[in-house]
Amino acid sequence: MVRTKHHNRTPKRYTSRRHPPRLLVTGLLLLTAATLCGLFLSYANWRQLSDERQLKQEQAAQFAALDKRVAAAAQKKIDDAKKAEAAAKAAAAADEAARKQSAGQHPDGTVSSSICAVTIPSTLTVVINKKHCFSPLNWAPSDLASVQGYLLRSEAATQLGAMINAASAAGMGFSPSSAYRSYDNQVTTYNTWVAINGSQAAADTVSARPGYSEHQTGLAVDLQTSGCALECFAGTAAYQWLKQYASDYGFIERYPVGLTSITGYSPEAWHWRYIGVATARDMKTKGIQTLEEYLGIPGGDY
Ligand SMILES: [Zn+2]
Repeated sequence: MVRTKHHNRTPKRYTSRRHPPRLLVTGLLLLTAATLCGLFLSYANWRQLSDERQLKQEQAAQFAALDKRVAAAAQKKIDDAKKAEAAAKAAAAADEAARKQSAGQHPDGTVSSSICAVTIPSTLTVVINKKHCFSPLNWAPSDLASVQGYLLRSEAATQLGAMINAASAAGMGFSPSSAYRSYDNQVTTYNTWVAINGSQAAADTVSARPGYSEHQTGLAVDLQTSGCALECFAGTAAYQWLKQYASDYGFIERYPVGLTSITGYSPEAWHWRYIGVATARDMKTKGIQTLEEYLGIPGGDY
């Protein structure tokens, strides 16, 4: 049997001659362990550095976000301060304009010989001229009605319609070319003239300042014939008809020839003003041509 066979053998012994010396094995083991240990330490060190870098990056991002928030808050503070300053300036300018107006000064700083502000612009005989402006400057009538697409205050509109019909029946046709103009509308008109003429003084000769135009009363109308508007209107038969009959409908020629120093305006044959039938007839009877003279109210230039 195999086992018996083996029993007879002398057991072999390991000898230093046939195997590596123990010292070498131990050395190799130690070297391997040291290498592994070194590798592990290097890895741990790398991980630690990597983690630190990431942490630093995260912190930097947080600081950047914080800086942004601080900068935004600072900018908002500056913007708010600017807005408050602009609002304060606007309020001061409005106060100053109101103070000047109540002191009889024009909003542009020039001083009138009389108080500018007309506080009841709704009366039919109200005088709005270069020394009498609306108060508030942007006053608007509340009873506007249309005549051929142009707006006038209700009573004036009815009377203009009747006058146009009567003239037409007499073969003297005319129609409105301009009637009520709002304050905002006059601002645009006046500024256009300032731009065209290059100065306020030059613009004043052809256009009323905003808040000083009789067209804002809703009682003034510019008339034209089919062949003629503005300057040439004085030469028309329609104008002659108006001079004779307009008072019967409550209208007067507002800026007659030769009275510029009283009205403040060069002659405007086309510009007619409603003041009510009784007053218009009374003025005609007394031979008084201007509202300023009739009511004893100062007029003329600004
Ligand atoms: Zn006019």
